[in-house]
Amino acid sequence: MGADAVVVGSGPNGLMAAVMLARAGREVLLLEAAERFGGGLRSAELTLPGHVHDLGATVMAMALASPAFRELDLKGVEFAHPPVVAAHPLDGQPAVLVHRDVRRTAEGLGRDGAAWTATVGAAVRAGLPLVELLLKPLGPWPARPMTFARAARFGLGAALPATTFARGAFRTERARALIAGMSAHSMLDLRAPISAGYGLTLAVLAHLVGWPVVRGGSQVLADALVAELRSLGGEAVTGHRVRRLSELDAPIVVLDVTPRQLLAMADLPGGYRRRLERYRYGPGVFKLDWALDGPVPWRDPAVASAGTVHLGGTLEEIALSEAEASAGRVSPRPYVLLVQPYAADPTRGGHTLWAYCHVPHGSRADVTDLVEAQIERYAPGFRDRVLARHAMGPAELEAADPNLVGGDIGGGLASLAQFARRPVWSPAPWRTPLPGVFLCSSSTPPGPGVHGMGGWQAARLALRHR
Ligand SMILES: Cc1cc2nc3c(=O)[nH]c(=O)nc-3n(C[C@H](O)[C@H](O)[C@H](O)COP(=O)(O)OP(=O)(O)OC[C@H]3O[C@@H](n4cnc5c(N)ncnc54)[C@H](O)[C@@H]3O)c2cc1C
Repeated sequence: MGADAVVVGSGPNGLMAAVMLARAGREVLLLEAAERFGGGLRSAELTLPGHVHDLGATVMAMALASPAFRELDLKGVEFAHPPVVAAHPLDGQPAVLVHRDVRRTAEGLGRDGAAWTATVGAAVRAGLPLVELLLKPLGPWPARPMTFARAARFGLGAALPATTFARGAFRTERARALIAGMSAHSMLDLRAPISAGYGLTLAVLAHLVGWPVVRGGSQVLADALVAELRSLGGEAVTGHRVRRLSELDAPIVVLDVTPRQLLAMADLPGGYRRRLERYRYGPGVFKLDWALDGPVPWRDPAVASAGTVHLGGTLEEIALSEAEASAGRVSPRPYVLLVQPYAADPTRGGHTLWAYCHVPHGSRADVTDLVEAQIERYAPGFRDRVLARHAMGPAELEAADPNLVGGDIGGGLASLAQFARRPVWSPAPWRTPLPGVFLCSSSTPPGPGVHGMGGWQAARLALRHR
């Protein structure tokens, strides 16, 4: 298939790479295996007609903070913010709430309010340049010395295991639980280094840009990127799975795939191949989508205003749940990450809701009851509101998107080792040893999330390639 550049895969990273290459005047062909563009940005009527569910990402904090998306300035995409960014219900007391405002959030943390302001609040004061450093860990960086000083301070806490950070920085159960719920997005054992970093980054983003959703569903963002590509003369095709690189005929090939797929697609030089073979995937997720006949009946009504809800109780409980998933066991009381888009966006056809918990890599267990029991714990009567449900375990997720290997939605373990080696240790890990072939998926820096930065970096390198 001939073009100046072929992009394989239309997740946010593939789409970003395709648009950047087309904007630079390249003739781009985008090939997507699925019947719809978007990868982790797809939406579909998974339960009942008229009910729009996001298959993957809903919360667009990273897109909003991403230099790549800001540069694109896409038309027709509207971000909708929930009244409360996130909530963390606890047994027998009011839920912990995260507001856009640092001070309001700190007030809800009582004795730990000052500690929240001194840690998360201090990083928020460093502003978007700090986030830019996190999203462009290998540069080019903003030339501001203060940013580096603040980043270094942030980095000291971020490098710690979440359990160590939470116990060192905070004295109350509420603040410790809050940072545990944030850090558990990493899918790491919370005793692992840098797990605090993910929680702190998400907390900083909550204050800095919010955790909005795309009005109408995440598919709107994917479709806007495809429209932009086509307006620049690019061609985009669905239902075309690339099995071998030899099928493609272009001087530039950008792959929105993970190392395991690249290994199957090409004969790679021995050293690089062995390094990719050592790349590790993390736990999987078990995801449920529901159509409800009304909002979730939270015991604490304040939770109804939050876009994202972390369920699982205290730091100790959440740490135990995540340790179990990492050790290959199903936790009987899993940490559940729940998103209620209707808190921000009433246009998705009623009350659609999703939640997932982490399960062992490739697990075949059906944990619907465990997830719903955690919701019932904080919202008695929830099950009575369910009109229809749709479940996807690791196998179904991987069938829907081959990048979700064993149900790992992060494109590979987010450990310290793979922070530095994603997927290989290199100043330009998006480059492969095959001339003109680049990787751009979340298996490259800065890792998972809808930020498009893998695609942005791969396209930058590709444009310099002769
Ligand atoms: C359930 C779930 C919830 C999530 N929630 C959030 C969230 O709220 N916020 C957030 O920021 N992130 C979230 N994420 C993570 C986010 O979706 C991913 O990090 C992001 O989509 C990764 O983008 P990508 O472009 O690297 O890959 P993907 O989005 O996975 O896209 C890869 C694409 O490549 C295609 N492809 C793969 N191989 C081939 C081939 N051989 N030929 C042709 N096409 C191919 C796939 O079909 C897919 O469309 C979530 C993910 C999941 C699964």
